[in-house]
Amino acid sequence: MIRVAHAALPLSLATLALFTPGTACAFEATQRQDGVTLHYRDASDAVPEAIRTRIIDTFFKAYLPQRADFHPHAASEVAIVIDPAYDGIAYVGEKAKASTITINPAWLAKHTGDTDLVTHEAMHIVQGYPEYANARVPGWLVEGIADYARDRYGVDNAAAGWALPLTVKEGQTAETGYRVTGAFLKWSEAAHPGLVKALDGALRSGRYTPALWQTHTGHTLPDLWTAYAKAATR
Ligand SMILES: [Zn+2]
Repeated sequence: MIRVAHAALPLSLATLALFTPGTACAFEATQRQDGVTLHYRDASDAVPEAIRTRIIDTFFKAYLPQRADFHPHAASEVAIVIDPAYDGIAYVGEKAKASTITINPAWLAKHTGDTDLVTHEAMHIVQGYPEYANARVPGWLVEGIADYARDRYGVDNAAAGWALPLTVKEGQTAETGYRVTGAFLKWSEAAHPGLVKALDGALRSGRYTPALWQTHTGHTLPDLWTAYAKAATR
């Protein structure tokens, strides 16, 4: 997901209590690969070494090709911050936090195979769109592209039981977002190679309009979805 900075909650007293000096020892590491530097910070050493190693490995395996394929000028300095005070799953923020992936360690403790959540979040850094969740940068498309990328660049999605859906359920549309939109993008990209890259570029430069679907596929967005839904239910 993407989280807007102004929605950040203040630290509560209960949260601060978790950081009583002496009860936690911080883990920090910096790694470089092919021009990208990753700063990994886990202030309370909440994530076990085996999972930490997989997270860092997954980050480089996903981010380097995502960046090369979609946005070579995307951040070359990235941070992964393990934050027990964050009660979601993982997010990339705005402005100063636009190249920081924050992860809730409690989620990883319960879903130890879900290290490709980093692949979804890394794509948000590559996206680096100037806005989020409005007509120029629709949230459903931003999250759909991130899940399309998780499928395409993921290291071990099967370990999390994660996959793009093969069928369409009643009530779903192109604008449902996340995996539903991701599967639709994968099908559309196969029929119209270059579509996702074109959409991504338009979103980044503020040129996105629904008419782009017609330009790149010859079909309106609703018509393309109808064709996909028909193919997916066969
Ligand atoms: Zn996301």
